Amino acid sequence: MSSALMAAWAVDEPRPIDQGPLVRVERPIPVPGPGQVRLQITACGVCRTDLHLCEGDLPSRRALVIPGHEVVGIVDQVGPGTNRFARGDRVGAAWLARTCGECRFCRSSRENLCLSPTFTGWDVDGGYAQFIVVDGDFAYFIPEEFDDLHAAPLLCAGIIGYRALLRAKVPEHGCLGIYGFGGSAHLTAQIAIAQGIRVHVMTRSPQAQELALALGASSASGADEVPPELLDSAILFAPVGTLVAPALEALDRGGTLALAGIYLSDIPPLNYERHLFQERSVCSVTANTRTDGHDFLEIAARTGLHISVVPYDFEHADQALRDLAHDRVNGAAVLVVAT
Ligand SMILES: [Zn+2]
Ligand SMILES: [Zn+2]
Repeated sequence: MSSALMAAWAVDEPRPIDQGPLVRVERPIPVPGPGQVRLQITACGVCRTDLHLCEGDLPSRRALVIPGHEVVGIVDQVGPGTNRFARGDRVGAAWLARTCGECRFCRSSRENLCLSPTFTGWDVDGGYAQFIVVDGDFAYFIPEEFDDLHAAPLLCAGIIGYRALLRAKVPEHGCLGIYGFGGSAHLTAQIAIAQGIRVHVMTRSPQAQELALALGASSASGADEVPPELLDSAILFAPVGTLVAPALEALDRGGTLALAGIYLSDIPPLNYERHLFQERSVCSVTANTRTDGHDFLEIAARTGLHISVVPYDFEHADQALRDLAHDRVNGAAVLVVAT
């Protein structure tokens, strides 16, 4: 019966981020149950989804939940019946905390579409804290190529971006448009470029345009500008529904637009001839399978990704989210929880 407490942040009544929906709390240090491990958290990425949760774009599923689903830590306690990890292992926890394992999607290698999934930092407490318990089957070994700070953004920004790239179905030596260039996009662009794909980036931030060019993008321009060539595929990372039409219009015949976010503002009416005819397609991206996660981490280690990280002291998690909301983060914001 331990009564030891840990420091954490929790989501209070959703409201605009500048009105302080993220509050400091103290919680009992969690104890791992069967199949679980406890991590002493070293770093946790700050994802736009955390912001959507704080502001109510994403409905709350649990009062005062601890957000954060790009969690890196060291296993410090192992629950009964857990064999995959041992004390001292460096482990990552991601958005998908658990799936049912029994529904038609879980049984057909599409667990990202599970009918009763559990998500880290939404249904169960996440990584804006000193400790977390995670299901051993859903955690990842962190490749040694990455230190804790740089590994954190891989766990959502990286994995979801990778799934978006798969969903965008870029042909070999093809051409990809990327709309919005934050934490996820800057990793996805590098994976695409390493595969021989030409990448054109459309984003409103001049700093992000600069970063895109430095990472090897063929061009970088404003968010609704027309790319210099027709696109085989495009990914919309910005949560901005008004960009769907220009992105579709920039596609070549037969092209695919993947919508990467968990939240998108409303899409204005489309014109069939201008935006969809000639077999152009739109698809969404919903979470990821564990296979996506393992594949991505392996590719990331092999590709030698440059991860642009903006570190924030754990005490300044609220500031990190405010900066994200106001486009002041160039790359991926990461909370430094312990060193
Ligand atoms: Zn399921
Ligand atoms: Zn995320």
